[in-house]
Amino acid sequence: MFVNLYDLSRPQLINMLAEWGYSAYHADKIWRNLYHQQALSLSEMGDLRPDLAAKLQAHTIIERPSTQLDTTSSDGYTRKFLLRLADNQTIETVLMRFEGRQGRSRATACVSTQVGCAMGCVFCATGQMGFTRHLSPGEIVAQVLHVNAILQSTGETDGKAVRNIVFMGMGEPLHNYDNVMTAVSILTDHKGLSMAPKHITLSTVGIVPGIRRLADEGQAIRLAVSLHGATDAERQSLIPPARRWPLAELMDACRTYTTKRKRRIFFEWTLIEGENDTPEQAHALGSLLQGMDAHVNLIPLNPTIGYDGRPTRSQAAQQFQSILSQYDLPSTIRQRRGIDIAAGCGQLKAAAKADHSTIP
Ligand code: SAH
Ligand code: SF4
Repeated sequence: MFVNLYDLSRPQLINMLAEWGYSAYHADKIWRNLYHQQALSLSEMGDLRPDLAAKLQAHTIIERPSTQLDTTSSDGYTRKFLLRLADNQTIETVLMRFEGRQGRSRATACVSTQVGCAMGCVFCATGQMGFTRHLSPGEIVAQVLHVNAILQSTGETDGKAVRNIVFMGMGEPLHNYDNVMTAVSILTDHKGLSMAPKHITLSTVGIVPGIRRLADEGQAIRLAVSLHGATDAERQSLIPPARRWPLAELMDACRTYTTKRKRRIFFEWTLIEGENDTPEQAHALGSLLQGMDAHVNLIPLNPTIGYDGRPTRSQAAQQFQSILSQYDLPSTIRQRRGIDIAAGCGQLKAAAKADHSTIP
């Protein structure tokens, strides 16, 4: 079995080399080659000892997905990549650009964590395709490297690299907890890509044990929780995992998280016309979150083939937002981006054979 070097955190690489009899100094050299020099093969790592290079040649690979499709939205702000993995499964990664201060643009990578998703949320294209498999840490990291390479080749941003990462692509990150956390450790490693943990946001459908683990041991990344309903019945009609983890348990885990980590939680609410956008529902959400260090992201529904709901109109969305402010809850209506190339929230899917597996 070959080890993909992108799958290893730096401590794991140091351990592997220690087993072979090499010091951490050598591991750091390989690490710099991978993440500073962006070496794509061993032959590009000129500074390695020949015996170590031979050992790496015999036991490891450096593998990145290949680009199958590359589409840009009509406004030019969003670019979506269909990436092919080693086993021919495909995933989607999205590069979004936002105008920052003084005309500078900021790049955000929306990264997938699984091929498909087991959670089955009715309005989500990834949920509609079912679950195929988890992504490895390296397959997660490689999406960021891919987007970085694109930015560097086009000189599109002043910072030359992705600034923000959102785990909001295909899949449920807390269903793939260990691999996602290893990927976070690789992305934030100070001798490598050095991404700021506060610029990484993990969005979960509300897997309670995962939120509790994040509260206890997770890294200092931002947490977003998809709510979509303020009662169990309303959540369950949209997101099946709400049956497994009722709202009371979910909110308890979220309160533990904010208390232990002293960190704000972002709550996501997909606004669906006539479904979860009434003033009563806004009041119910306000009461649910009142007093918490919370921010609500309102996402007007994006179209998917398997669900015929419509997005809340902008006036009703603003009314929803103004009710939340009565509860001192800050909120944002998310800009709709990349809808013409199906790169918006919940629109990602890939042409892959998938099983509909049950919730874990
Ligand atoms: N699995 C994670 C992260 C991926 S989805 C989660 O569910 O949180 C990222 C966000 O997009 C979630 O808040 C999800 O509820 C939302 N979403 C899914 N389908 C959508 C759609 N069709 N329109 C708008 N938002 C959608
Ligand atoms: Fe999975 Fe998130 Fe889509 Fe639900 S909304 S099916 S959890 S990706």
